Amino acid sequence: MKVSLASALGTCFGVKDAINLALEPQFKGDLTIIGQLVHNGQVNESLKKNGVSVVDGADAIDQIKTKKVMITAHGAAEKMKKKLTDAGLVVFDASCPLVMRVHNTIKSMVEKNYFPVVIGQEDHVEVKGIVGDLDDYIVVGSEDDLEKLRATGKRKFGIVSQTTQQVEKVEHLVGKIREMDCVDDVAFVNTICQPTRDRQIAVGDLADQVDLMIVIGGYNSSNTKKLVQVCDEKNVEAYHIEASSQLDKQWFINKKHVGITAGTSTPEYIINDVHSAILEIAREMDELKIQPVH
Ligand code: SF4
Repeated sequence: MKVSLASALGTCFGVKDAINLALEPQFKGDLTIIGQLVHNGQVNESLKKNGVSVVDGADAIDQIKTKKVMITAHGAAEKMKKKLTDAGLVVFDASCPLVMRVHNTIKSMVEKNYFPVVIGQEDHVEVKGIVGDLDDYIVVGSEDDLEKLRATGKRKFGIVSQTTQQVEKVEHLVGKIREMDCVDDVAFVNTICQPTRDRQIAVGDLADQVDLMIVIGGYNSSNTKKLVQVCDEKNVEAYHIEASSQLDKQWFINKKHVGITAGTSTPEYIINDVHSAILEIAREMDELKIQPVH
């Protein structure tokens, strides 16, 4: 059984920078992160072990017990940042520059009188940050949401995408919007980030060569789910796991070539651990095959 890693996988620079900032010795346990810094349970667990607190939910600000707070790599609305500083907190901003690019792009579209549309997952923290300073907006998650554009009564739409969306899906939805009879003018900037694109292209290439794909990443990680989706679309059997302990040997029976990929918030040590475990399974499977028949 052959085992191959995707040519691009795992932690992106945005996530690495955010984790490194959170672990800086200057904080010494005096830091609260608002929401998960990255969508990876194990990373968040090790941050907690280093004395970093995490608060979440509608009353997140009320739960803060430290002087210093951190905005996650997913970004936040300016209104939210102001709320934090008004509460007397010192704000450290780990927003990824590629998320900030989406904030800036949509703001400049609104200034040019385009009605803002975000293609993404409405309840995702990144999308909440993108729309958090806008008076009016639409989030499109699927074709089912397109009629929302008509309901606005507007004819000029400015469209951006959540950074971790699937490239083909976004292009398809923008094509559908352009065809709508109620739409005169579309300004579209595809703001899917390069690390996400690289991982989607790499998993697609590898999916063409394998008969099983193992996708590693947090179950709540949007970009990891998209990697599974790419495999599904290519009819390649794929399993989404967070850690090597979830690997099931049954998946590997009679498989010739297994691929491994990982989302942008999956740290290298988890990928290495899963890779080693799969190599061990591959060795066992190969040994079983060459057992002499008595
Ligand atoms: S996935 Fe993209 S936008 Fe998100 S943190 Fe990584 S590089 Fe930045």
